Amino acid sequence: MSPRSPTVAIIGAGHAGLAMSACLSARAIDHVVIERGEVAHTWRTERWDSLRLLTPNWQSRLPGFRYTGDNPDGYRTIPETVAFLSDYARLMTAPVASHTTVTRVARTDSGYAVTTDQGDWHCRALVLASGACNIAKVPAYAKDVPASITTLTSQQYRNPAQLPDGGVLVVGASASGTQIALELQRSGRPVTLAVGEHIRAPRTYRGRDLQWWMDAAGVQDERYDAVDDVARVRRVPSLQLAGTPDRSTLDLNALTTLGVTLAGRLAGISGGKAQFSGALANACALSDLKMGRLLETIDAWATANGLDGEVAPPERFAPTRVPASPPLSLDLAAGGIRSIIWAIGYRPDFSWLDMPVRDAKGMIRHDGGVVASPGLYVMGMPFLRRRKSTLIDGAADDARDLSAHLAGYLDNGARNVA
Ligand SMILES: Cc1cc2nc3c(=O)[nH]c(=O)nc-3n(C[C@H](O)[C@H](O)[C@H](O)COP(=O)(O)OP(=O)(O)OC[C@H]3O[C@@H](n4cnc5c(N)ncnc54)[C@H](O)[C@@H]3O)c2cc1C
Repeated sequence: MSPRSPTVAIIGAGHAGLAMSACLSARAIDHVVIERGEVAHTWRTERWDSLRLLTPNWQSRLPGFRYTGDNPDGYRTIPETVAFLSDYARLMTAPVASHTTVTRVARTDSGYAVTTDQGDWHCRALVLASGACNIAKVPAYAKDVPASITTLTSQQYRNPAQLPDGGVLVVGASASGTQIALELQRSGRPVTLAVGEHIRAPRTYRGRDLQWWMDAAGVQDERYDAVDDVARVRRVPSLQLAGTPDRSTLDLNALTTLGVTLAGRLAGISGGKAQFSGALANACALSDLKMGRLLETIDAWATANGLDGEVAPPERFAPTRVPASPPLSLDLAAGGIRSIIWAIGYRPDFSWLDMPVRDAKGMIRHDGGVVASPGLYVMGMPFLRRRKSTLIDGAADDARDLSAHLAGYLDNGARNVA
């Protein structure tokens, strides 16, 4: 079968690929969206059952589409998120080739050869929108976990019933780790939470959602080329936020109140014992400090924009309570730990990319989504062009910028390719 030849191929029909598809359609650029599953595949297959978005409903503005329901400040469940993105794909008549897995991409003289399990494609320009969270990270010392202990990543975790009764060690205290720790503690399984770098954040501040403030004050719009050290900010963990119907704040103090035991960063496992860093107090102090700086930015913006009379007064929150002597070592069997959940972050999978565009860690080298290969773009990576780039709400601006660049490339293609 000869290869199909759209002008542009987009790999991935998550919100990033769909946003790019909408922008290309608006420019009448013919394209295909190649998807290994169905639209919103990762939301259908890689999230735990009780997860709700940590961004409010209004904060998912895609090109030509936004939330119009009667609960703009609520937080979508997973089925609602799948429905939202499926509705978007339908409304935009996105040309999705579903159940088609890309197995190799290589450069040709005139563009890119895309090999899939459903035949070959050739395109002049290519957009990688295959996601930043394809693989849940697992530390190298995970191999030293005794075989009797059930281990799952945050990507494999669905609900407490998957785990045996007994204690759980949750590793990682950002959004995924704290939410899973809360659910497991409530299920009656005593949780020890290994806490490394994290960023504490109140759900609401001065009577409004924290995301409202970050959006209004321009924090989410901060650009990749305006920060001091973009490599560092791209590694910053997600805010410790959860979207619950009661809009409660989920932080370490809330977990401690429920009975969760805090420990420092998990440094290794040896002889059936978990070894924790002794720097828990430092990690928490740093997190409190970062939260304080964010709140100062918000307060300054509120004052500068005349909001002080309209909203509640500034608040400061009690420091994170750190146990006087957090555990430095935990004998997993004697301590009753029957399961471990790895919630230390995610990384993309570009193993099928047969081109020298990745660094030693396998991450794509790019300048705001423009990859150093003619007509090649990437979407959805952390702080790709703006702080909000990985959020659903961040895709619209990035897709507009990158589709404009791509259109320019196609117009001048012959010169660029040479
Ligand atoms: C636990 C969790 C919670 C999150 N919560 C929020 C939130 O509350 N609000 C928010 O705005 N964002 C949230 N995010 C961040 C982000 O919105 C999601 O990760 C989102 O799924 C990323 O969208 P995407 O389109 O970039 O990638 P994805 O949704 O991952 O889409 C990529 C698509 O590419 C497909 N694909 C991958 N490889 C191939 C291949 N080789 N061939 C063909 N197709 C392929 C996948 O099947 C997938 O459908 C969360 C992320 C995680 C992990």
